[in-house]
Amino acid sequence: KPVVAIVGRPNVGKSTLFNRLVGKRVALVDDRPGVTRDRREGDAHLLGLDFKLIDTAGFEDEDEQSLPGRMRKQTEAAVAEADVALFVVDAKSGITPLDEEIARWLRGSDTPIVVAANKAEGKLGMEGAMEAYTLGLGDPFALSAEHGEGIVDLFDALRPHIERDEDAEPERQEEEDPFKPATGPLKLAIVGRPNAGKSTLVNQMIGEDRLITGPEAGITRDSITLNWEWQGHKVELVDTAGLRKRAKVDDKLEKLSAMDTKRSIDMAEVVILLLDATRGLEAQDLRIADQVIQEGRALMIAINKWDIAEGASALFNGVKAALEEGLSQIKNIPLFAVSAKTGKGIDQMIEAAFLLREQWSRRVSTGELNRWFDDAIDAHNPPAPKGQRIKLRYITQVKSRPPTFVIFGNRLDMLPASYVRYLENSLRKDLKMGPVPLRINLRMQSN
Ligand code: GDP
Repeated sequence: KPVVAIVGRPNVGKSTLFNRLVGKRVALVDDRPGVTRDRREGDAHLLGLDFKLIDTAGFEDEDEQSLPGRMRKQTEAAVAEADVALFVVDAKSGITPLDEEIARWLRGSDTPIVVAANKAEGKLGMEGAMEAYTLGLGDPFALSAEHGEGIVDLFDALRPHIERDEDAEPERQEEEDPFKPATGPLKLAIVGRPNAGKSTLVNQMIGEDRLITGPEAGITRDSITLNWEWQGHKVELVDTAGLRKRAKVDDKLEKLSAMDTKRSIDMAEVVILLLDATRGLEAQDLRIADQVIQEGRALMIAINKWDIAEGASALFNGVKAALEEGLSQIKNIPLFAVSAKTGKGIDQMIEAAFLLREQWSRRVSTGELNRWFDDAIDAHNPPAPKGQRIKLRYITQVKSRPPTFVIFGNRLDMLPASYVRYLENSLRKDLKMGPVPLRINLRMQSN
């Protein structure tokens, strides 16, 4: 059963909401010592959704000074085991420093968060909810647990996170064209470590100083999309991190930026990983690059601050070699030297991004694919473990973005991974798939 955790500071109405959703059913009081001491749990029902609800109450009478430390433990424990956390704030009293602190804890977690602005009955609704935008945890919705208003919004907010994947998946796949052509605005994300120059690059690309330069880190941290045109082609920057100026960079923000990175990658077609020429390629960069490839996005790498790079050609070749070694699944990942400050190299980089999206969206005809397939198998037969013949019958492309193939045959469970790699490399090379991720799935047929 999916688990929802209600979190928030005392007196925002968590218990009222809990009681409304759990109703008269007996609420268990977990009396194990430690962080779970004061929680309540119950089976909740909401417009046909069934889930387990955890209420992190029990601090209503605590003194303000020692509250945050203990509350944090309990909140984090509940959130960690939940499929989604429902962060409740009080629309009437507005966002308090404690709310902001809780928001900071929540941002460090992998659990999805939805924000409810409670006590927002009647006219107060939208206004109270607006302020909760500043928490930077996505679109808040107005709720009145006491009056039962905003229940449908609550349902809409929770549903995507608690319906089982099997239920949600087919719907999404039906909507999405498996071979969506490479048209429309290029969805581009720029990721990289703090200070790599992401904001400066965005400024340089859109040609005017439009970045949000608010003093508070996190003020606008929900996804920001910037639309602009590059030589007549539409570009949609889905970068989240680089569109904000950060007041300072500390450990918490490093962590925060990892979540931003994931979000940007999810939304993008092409991801540019920005490196800092004065620092070179570091382990963290390789991890981000690998993440982009794992997520099936088209990856490009740009070494920024080229204007102040020392030993330019050695640096470039060094990064290239490290990429070949560290990201061996894709050869020749596009690598550019740019200067966000002077603008050098940016045009070529964006041009390459459009090309890369085409390769990432490519569809190969089944005829061409199977001519290649037969040749590849002739050139190098699959092994016959214990005298068992593995038969590879045919291959078909099931989707693009990234190109994804299914091979049909029998005894495919015996096919060594090295042979699948051979096929992938050969497919890449012979059909000129370009430096994009490819996926090959095996589908066994009987006999
Ligand atoms: P972000 O954290 O990735 O958004 O990085 P910023 O855009 O805030 O840049 C960090 C620092 O690097 C700032 O001091 C920029 O002025 C500087 N910077 C960014 N790009 C370049 C560049 O191409 N050349 C030079 N010399 N400095 C740059």
